[in-house]
Amino acid sequence: MKISVVGTGYVGLVSGTCFAETGVNVACVDIDEKKIENLKNGIIPIYEPGLEDIYKKNVTKGRLQFTTSLKDSIEDAAAVFIAVGTPPDEDGSADLKYVLSVAREIGKYIDHYMVVVTKSTVPVGTAAKVKDAIQGELQKRGADIPFDVASNPEFLKEGSAVEDFLKPDRIVIGTESQNAQKVMSRLYKPFLLNGHPILFMDITSSEMTKYAANSMLATKISFINEIANLCEIVGADVDAVRKGIGSDSRIGNKFIYPGTGYGGSCFPKDVQALIRTADENNYSLNILKAVEAVNYRQKSVLFNKINKHFNGDLKGKKFAMWGLAFKPKTDDMREAPSLVIIDKLLEAGATVVAYDPVAMNECKRIIGDKITYAKDEYDAAIDADALILVTEWPEFRLPNFRVLGKLLKNNVIFDGRNIYDPEEMAEKSYTYYAIGRKIQT
Ligand code: NAD
Repeated sequence: MKISVVGTGYVGLVSGTCFAETGVNVACVDIDEKKIENLKNGIIPIYEPGLEDIYKKNVTKGRLQFTTSLKDSIEDAAAVFIAVGTPPDEDGSADLKYVLSVAREIGKYIDHYMVVVTKSTVPVGTAAKVKDAIQGELQKRGADIPFDVASNPEFLKEGSAVEDFLKPDRIVIGTESQNAQKVMSRLYKPFLLNGHPILFMDITSSEMTKYAANSMLATKISFINEIANLCEIVGADVDAVRKGIGSDSRIGNKFIYPGTGYGGSCFPKDVQALIRTADENNYSLNILKAVEAVNYRQKSVLFNKINKHFNGDLKGKKFAMWGLAFKPKTDDMREAPSLVIIDKLLEAGATVVAYDPVAMNECKRIIGDKITYAKDEYDAAIDADALILVTEWPEFRLPNFRVLGKLLKNNVIFDGRNIYDPEEMAEKSYTYYAIGRKIQT
């Protein structure tokens, strides 16, 4: 079996590589020539645990190839997966220009029956637009080539994308075609040996499922952030409250960790896009509008604590920042809360020395040398007026507080992810701030 995967970002590259791992021949396509050149030369453009090993293995086996030619990639392919970006448009709706441009390309070159799969996160109605775009090109060519469109949203998480793709909780497929169902079942069967389901549904429901899933997750985060803020005001400890509510199986203990607000390339844009879809249909998604507003406010919570501690005088202060990526185990900096905190600190006249195990190059690409990049977490702490923890990388969880205390100018920690124990911090004579917790200072 042969497939084409268009877009070699987090989703396309991981999907393509994981499909190759099952024995399928995969041609990965991107318009970014540099990216393809790098991938041909063994350079992977993103960081994802486990990706390098299976990438190398499948390239060596000849099952994983890279090209800038969509035409070549779809030759003899049973399916083509569209996995390009769908960034937010100015009004918050998903910008479909990349998806539709790929669809037109497919229409130009398709010469046999194929399933055209939208894997990108796309709003309700997109599969129909993709179908129209392909048909439009076929008409121009005067060609009559059958094809089916299927929606197959991706639920992998950056930081565990390979693991998630290889062992998915479920596969969602929206299609009206029996043929497409057959092709998709065959492709996904090897990933479902764990007994998890493949859910076939209509295309509209499939497109909606992805947005509903991300919106639900974003809602959980904003909910617990609000509860955390209130805990602080009334003197409760959100860590205890989190455990208290999480042990109720109807609520569950996942995704109820307070912090500095959600970021990344998905939740902010998907929540916005769903709000926009509803608005366009004259329905106001009030819960999601609140989720967004809460998240916006939450990104300032840690900065406000810092500002208050230093009595609003941050000029000339130097801060060590541990973690830059929007979450651990990824180098993705899109919408990362660290960027908001950095902006506010710099605006207030402070300087920042940051360390992140993998996201420093990406951060540099985005904000350049506005901050200093350290060689490790202890290097970042030298002479800093305080330490700010933004991303809970495992290696930050048990630092040597004695060594750290000697490096820092003041033993002050602002913990945006609640990873340290307030009692231990007090014992070790640190002034400790966290999110929604009872702190003895
Ligand atoms: P990305 O920005 O990392 O990668 C997109 C790639 O598509 C880029 O390499 C770009 O050069 C390429 N591209 C753009 N136009 C192209 C064209 N015409 N032909 C070929 N290549 C083209 O994006 P991503 O994070 O992988 O996300 C892709 C989609 O998957 C988005 O819709 C996103 O919402 C969705 N998604 C992302 C995640 C995630 O965790 N990143 C998870 C689930 C779903």
